[in-house]
Amino acid sequence: MTEKNNLKASEEKKVLKGLFPIDRFQSLKTPFYYYDLDILRATLDEIKEQPKKDGFVVHYALKANVNPEILRTIRERGLGADCVSGGEVEAALKAGIPASKIVFAGVGKADWEINLGLDNDIFCFNVESVPELEVINELAAAKGKTARIALRINPNVSAHTHHYITTGLNENKFGINMSDIDKVIDLLPALNNVKLAGVHFHIGSQITDMEPFRELCVRVNEIQQHFLSRRIVLEHVNVGGGLGIDYEHPDDSSIPAFKSYFEIFRRHLRLQPGQTLHFELGRSIVAQCGSLISRTLYVKEGATKSFVILDAGFTELIRPALYQAYHKIENLTSDLPEKEYDVVGPICESSDTFAKAYALNETKRGDIIALRSAGAYGEIMASQYNLRKLPEAYTSIDTAVSGLA
Ligand SMILES: *Cc1c(COP(=O)(O)O)cnc(C)c1O
Repeated sequence: MTEKNNLKASEEKKVLKGLFPIDRFQSLKTPFYYYDLDILRATLDEIKEQPKKDGFVVHYALKANVNPEILRTIRERGLGADCVSGGEVEAALKAGIPASKIVFAGVGKADWEINLGLDNDIFCFNVESVPELEVINELAAAKGKTARIALRINPNVSAHTHHYITTGLNENKFGINMSDIDKVIDLLPALNNVKLAGVHFHIGSQITDMEPFRELCVRVNEIQQHFLSRRIVLEHVNVGGGLGIDYEHPDDSSIPAFKSYFEIFRRHLRLQPGQTLHFELGRSIVAQCGSLISRTLYVKEGATKSFVILDAGFTELIRPALYQAYHKIENLTSDLPEKEYDVVGPICESSDTFAKAYALNETKRGDIIALRSAGAYGEIMASQYNLRKLPEAYTSIDTAVSGLA
């Protein structure tokens, strides 16, 4: 996926191993998330490098990860925020991201959440239905304000990704269908407390093939033409997020393919003069900087296979159970020859399995196991099912050790 050289798996593994000297592992309380802020900074630098001078504006999709140090690092690089709940709007503001850089999407915004956005004069509400548009207008009128809105349009583009994370098809619950755009435009003149500022799209997540993004550009151009034919000039276009990452090679592809991604939009999307193009990237910014670190509780020899039973389960990282997602797994404390294992968690559900028939260096009780590329949709989706404790998160081995005190 990226332009870097391929490393051998064995060399690759040393990247994380080097950060965690074995003798210090033994004192660590597991499971916990480890975030490498150097990788995050390098990722943010690459993003900054690309959209320069094109009127591109990047928002970070908070739902991927709201760790305070991650948010601080992202805010320091000047990114805006993409929020999908009132809680995320609060978290973005608390992290110091200015309201003028906050967009707020979601099919079910509650009144208090809309009011929170209005009180803080956020950049834009991404509106997903006519009833929502009417409620925003009413609530804004009650405050004597005008809400800036973008219509989230369902472009009916397939993201060719897992069906749980495709969002831009007519059958999905998100956005306003293309066939309803005129109805909405006809409604707008009667809504005195909303100002149409843009159009918004988001077609799905973990998209590594650039073709769906090109199709989106074609669709956006058509839609823009339609708005122009109705004498509506939009201030901005927001194409959402969804850029995927390389889960198989977390080290040699630690920086996602931002170059090809932004190039697609530069080449295929026709902006009107003065228009800005907004992006809402989540996974691609934070996934590769995070690992879930756990300890092997037991190695159980079954009749036909061996199980590595970890002290982390889907309560810490639900993606494998929820989306059949792949995470690279490494034994950081063994150099023994590889053996095949089913790697599972301790939760009382059969879906609590991270991988089947997975080749790991021979594993023993106490070995430290890393689940890689877990910075996005990992910690934030942790639950207390089985009355488990929520995982800690650290950004260095030193904070991890002192976190024990
Ligand atoms: C989830 C989401 C994003 C971010 O998606 P990624 O795949 O993490 O980049 C962006 N915009 C909206 C509206 C979302 O719901």
